[in-house]
Amino acid sequence: MIEQMLSDTSLLKTQGFINGQWVSAENGAEFDVVNPASNEVIARVADLGGKETKQAIELAHDAMAVWSKKTPKEKSAVLRKWFDLVMENKDDLAKIMTLEQGKIFAEARGEVIYGASYIEWFAEEAKRIYGDVLPSTSTDRRSLVIKQPIGVVGAITPWNFPVAMITRKVAPALAAGCSIVLKPAAETPLSALALAELAQRAGIPSGMFNVVPGVAAAEIGEQLTGHSLVKKVTFTGSTRVGKILMAQAAQTVKRTSMELGGNAPVLVFDDADMDKAVEGALAAKFRNAGQTCICANRILVQSGVYEEFVSKYTEKVQAFVVGNGLAEKSTMGPLITRIAVENVSSLVEDALSKGAKLTAGGDNSGAEGGYFFQPTVIRDADQSMRIAKEEVFGPVAPIFRFDTEEEAVAMANDTEFGLAAYLFTKDQSRSWRISERLDYGMVGVNETAISSEVIPFGGVKESGQGREGSKYGLEDYLEMKYVCLGDI
Ligand code: NAP
Repeated sequence: MIEQMLSDTSLLKTQGFINGQWVSAENGAEFDVVNPASNEVIARVADLGGKETKQAIELAHDAMAVWSKKTPKEKSAVLRKWFDLVMENKDDLAKIMTLEQGKIFAEARGEVIYGASYIEWFAEEAKRIYGDVLPSTSTDRRSLVIKQPIGVVGAITPWNFPVAMITRKVAPALAAGCSIVLKPAAETPLSALALAELAQRAGIPSGMFNVVPGVAAAEIGEQLTGHSLVKKVTFTGSTRVGKILMAQAAQTVKRTSMELGGNAPVLVFDDADMDKAVEGALAAKFRNAGQTCICANRILVQSGVYEEFVSKYTEKVQAFVVGNGLAEKSTMGPLITRIAVENVSSLVEDALSKGAKLTAGGDNSGAEGGYFFQPTVIRDADQSMRIAKEEVFGPVAPIFRFDTEEEAVAMANDTEFGLAAYLFTKDQSRSWRISERLDYGMVGVNETAISSEVIPFGGVKESGQGREGSKYGLEDYLEMKYVCLGDI
């Protein structure tokens, strides 16, 4: 029972949250939330659909009038209060997250703190929305630019970061003056609903932050992308779904931000600090059991250090302890669903059938009951394998070999994705050269822990458009208006 694990049981919410009210589906429908570590149903949540989403959008539109009467400083104070409450309740939020998502408790706690940092950041940014006074083209005129909230925002988020992917959208939307209607992933609605409870306690006015849980994703998505009152759609998830939402949003010319899939390469050169490279590639691969969009998907190692890297990396991977994320000894949790395990198995089988060799893991043995897969290392991976092109989204590290810098850059860029890339070298000029040539939105040099609230997170190519966090993150929620003052 989740309740028995929480200090504050009122954080466990199982209804939708619309206009400050906790609501059930009109027909009483509910869906199961399953613990991926045990395959047990841990909660049943109201299954809302298109009708409730439409209501939420219309009420969210009205709510903006109330929020707009607050000064930037007042809005900032409310957001700050929300940040404080999230931090005060971080252990409960982390437990809820581990139970519905599977990641180990320490990572879940880390995600809550990381997610909260976006609320704190945008609470501060709310006070710093500036306009411009432009040079005048005649003496009797003045030209101004003011920034205004874009309007109601429709947001759709994935299950892999059930708190941070939400705060990264909701906090800048509220800071800019926009209301938001959120559809969280059906696998992880409880984290979203707990955030809404804390937002309400913080004093965020009714209707400014609404959560519509439901399994009818397409139906909810059609409202969020099609309703004329929604002015912006922000999505984090797969490239496949992102393309559908962009096409739908185009019908009413909505602004979109898309944080989509990745296929991150890690380039390890002969002159790299080998221990740093091994640690960096390890952290970037196995965090959240390999289910992050900036996960090391392909590890490209130069010939001179290939054997050394494979051996050191394999040794570290064999030390992982796979198990329930709430068990203290676990260092890696389960995957999100049985289908995820099947996908990962099939990528491994494909690579092995084409000549790759296993040095660690390779199957789902050793942990019973849940959707586990052993941390896996594959050596002698090459471009003919599916694993070179597809997002693995699981704990499998394929290690490729390259000889020259040219070859490494070509391999790294040989993908339709362009989210994050990493390289390890001690050569300063090579760091610059390669960072500039990698077709990615984010590059880590001798570092794979690259994300925080102060950096612009986002990708190029089919990894998406727009940036979240940082001083740039607010712009996506603001509209620019030019005002010409005549007869001065
Ligand atoms: P997904 O299948 O695209 O689902 C993401 C969200 O979209 C979920 O809420 C899902 O709802 C919803 N959805 C699915 N089909 C929809 C439709 N037709 N209309 C409207 N909404 C729809 O992705 P996922 O498997 O949950 O997440 C993993 C993906 O997210 C990976 O590709 C990963 O790289 C990407 N990701 C990217 C970033 C980034 O910042 N670039 C960050 C994290 C994750 P249901 O849950 O109800 O199906």
